[in-house]
Amino acid sequence: MKIDIMTLFPEMCESVLSESIIGRARKNGYVEINCVNIRDFTLDKHNRVDDAPYGGGMGMLMGPQPIYDCYKSLYGDEEKKPHLIYMSPQGKTLTQQRVKELALTDHIVLLCGHYEGVDQRILDEIVDEEISIGDYVLTGGELPALVLADSISRMIDNVLPNDEAKELESHYNGLLEYPQYTRPYEWHGVKVPDILLSGHHANIDKWRHEKALETTLLKRPELLSSAKLSKKDTEYIKSLKKGET
Ligand code: SAM
Repeated sequence: MKIDIMTLFPEMCESVLSESIIGRARKNGYVEINCVNIRDFTLDKHNRVDDAPYGGGMGMLMGPQPIYDCYKSLYGDEEKKPHLIYMSPQGKTLTQQRVKELALTDHIVLLCGHYEGVDQRILDEIVDEEISIGDYVLTGGELPALVLADSISRMIDNVLPNDEAKELESHYNGLLEYPQYTRPYEWHGVKVPDILLSGHHANIDKWRHEKALETTLLKRPELLSSAKLSKKDTEYIKSLKKGET
């Protein structure tokens, strides 16, 4: 899979994407991520990429020409244009479900706005989708693009050590993850639950699943209405609500 990030600050993106799990995945060729400088495509003799908005108002707006030419350079004569996502506080809020779907795409391009954002004609003509990482405003689209690139990369084969590593995490199946413990066995007077030392894998899995239900009910109860729950799960949640467990 290939992800191109169109930005005015490629070094900012590159520094994050060169580290840790994603850095290794890129080196090993499991995911290709390129940070492309929109400024390299400006035809302005002073290298400008932004201008004041028509009608007045504060701030500067990124103009259409450098963005358009940058995007076109990413697919050249390819018949199928890559899916272009504009990182925007006006987009649909990112979910794990959308991340899973996007991870099946061959080539996506992430457009990072800056300043006041980008000229509307770019959104109308070339943007396929707008994605927000939450209902708040950041100074630029780089952090949101990194969030999206990271979350998609995790879903790609071989990036994580095994499928379990992604499937057991919060949100993958609509629930939050169960609590986890490591050494020491006792810390500040609190011991690790005995079941985790029992070596009985079926019982441990059952305990973890129940704890995932319990954690979700406690922290994000609204997720339970869209999670896939068995009859047994529903009964267990009912008993938790009644304080029976
Ligand atoms: N004028 C825009 C508005 O009010 O909708 C906000 C522009 S914001 C200051 C600059 C850039 O940051 C945006 O073009 C976008 O790329 C990015 N951005 C800011 N908040 C974001 C969010 N919550 N999710 C995704 N991108 C965001």
